[in-house]
Amino acid sequence: MRIAVAQLWQETNTFNPIATTRQDFESFGIVRGNNLVDQQADANELGGFIQSLRGWPEKPKIAGLIRLPAWPSGLATAETFRWLHDELVASLKTALPVDGILLALHGALAADQHPDVEGEILAAVRALVGPRVPIVATLDLHANVTPQMASAADALVLYHTIPHIDLFQTGQRAANLLHRIVIDRAKPCTSFIKVPCVLPAERANTEVPTGVSADLKRKLQAIESRSEVLTAGLATVQPWLDIPNLGSAVVVTTDNQPALATQLATDVASELWSRRTEYLPELLSIEDAIARAHANPSGLVVVSDAADATTSGAPGDSVWLLQEFLKYDWSRPVLLTVVAPDIVQEVEQLGPGQTWSGLIGGLRDTRFGIRIPLSGIIENIFDARFTTSGHLGNLAIDMGRAALLRSRQIHIIITSKTGPHFSPQLFQSAGLDPFAAAVLVAKSPAGFRAAYASRAAAIYSVRAPGCAPSDFWRFDYKNIDRPLWPWDEISNWKPAPMLFHMRR
Ligand SMILES: [Zn+2]
Repeated sequence: MRIAVAQLWQETNTFNPIATTRQDFESFGIVRGNNLVDQQADANELGGFIQSLRGWPEKPKIAGLIRLPAWPSGLATAETFRWLHDELVASLKTALPVDGILLALHGALAADQHPDVEGEILAAVRALVGPRVPIVATLDLHANVTPQMASAADALVLYHTIPHIDLFQTGQRAANLLHRIVIDRAKPCTSFIKVPCVLPAERANTEVPTGVSADLKRKLQAIESRSEVLTAGLATVQPWLDIPNLGSAVVVTTDNQPALATQLATDVASELWSRRTEYLPELLSIEDAIARAHANPSGLVVVSDAADATTSGAPGDSVWLLQEFLKYDWSRPVLLTVVAPDIVQEVEQLGPGQTWSGLIGGLRDTRFGIRIPLSGIIENIFDARFTTSGHLGNLAIDMGRAALLRSRQIHIIITSKTGPHFSPQLFQSAGLDPFAAAVLVAKSPAGFRAAYASRAAAIYSVRAPGCAPSDFWRFDYKNIDRPLWPWDEISNWKPAPMLFHMRR
């Protein structure tokens, strides 16, 4: 028995003007064949696949196809889409015949002229192997799930958590599901419901005891624990995607029980719809948040700058908050981050201990960004290379050469490349203690909470200009289908389930 495993991972933000290209995937690190199985056995969904497959009594041969990852950024070019598609299909062709396929996908990767990249790739994989080979794909909770994805795969298995701390478990759930199809002859039957809403991330934390997101997670997990159910998931979508068919989605896959799948998916979709306003965040102005942080006498204040969240595909060179921080005198450290490869180069030439002066920001986010003067002592020049924990945990990250500049108590980490700019490991790699600071800016709307929620004295979410704004519905989207909440009020919406019944 042979089971193929592969990964395609990138989250697209169509407001980021920087296109995602083949080079972004190559520089993040493509892995193929047996190297994939060796290197990814403990990390993310691939690790979940591999560990689970190794535990099958049938001892299947694991055919590693290819891992294609890139950090969240702008729309992929059409050429990049074609290349990703061909790489994945070609790697599968050489591995055939296989008895099952496990694909770790994101679900919100969009390319020029190809808004549903994963849907097209799933359709191509299905076309290659035909209807008899089971395909199970995992998706991020921020996927824009489409009928094309649901019809091509036997089942779509979604993360259950925000912050995303269940990548490995999602891989295991998918592999266990595949076992039920391949060995137990389960007949997947998926009810798919598109829900016309796009939800802000701030209150989507599933890891708090109460709230809509935690309630829905518990509901999905209770559904999934039923013996007739193969998987149950909800995707609340990456909001910064100006593409057709944008919206939340519910998928429930049962073993050959269409009426039950429909009933359960309808129940989840109805609860999401009726509670959608509970996702609306409380946002402070930049001025207000920083004034409050300045007035805080002890402990750590985390300021969430979601609009420039690199985890949401924003460019990471916003200095709107830095501009405000510079207006104050701080008695304890303030930590923030900026992506600026040009400054890293200049700093490398000057060397530690020297003073760098120049303009910072606004070169990558040319739409919302500003450029401001800054002068700082070069405290450190280092490699921003580490392994993440918490949100998107156990991910090997290389953000290239980086520098630490200090202007009085304001410490600015300048990186050459984008990456997890909320990550405690990034601050630690610069020689800073993120938990001992007075203020830390997390360029992240929700994921940062896995690291900081239990250790912060206060957390403030700010309304700042940027490519991933929390109040995205105030922005001009040209391609989304309307009506869509919260852009539009919609009365009397009723779930319209679609049914995909494989291997009947
Ligand atoms: Zn996500």
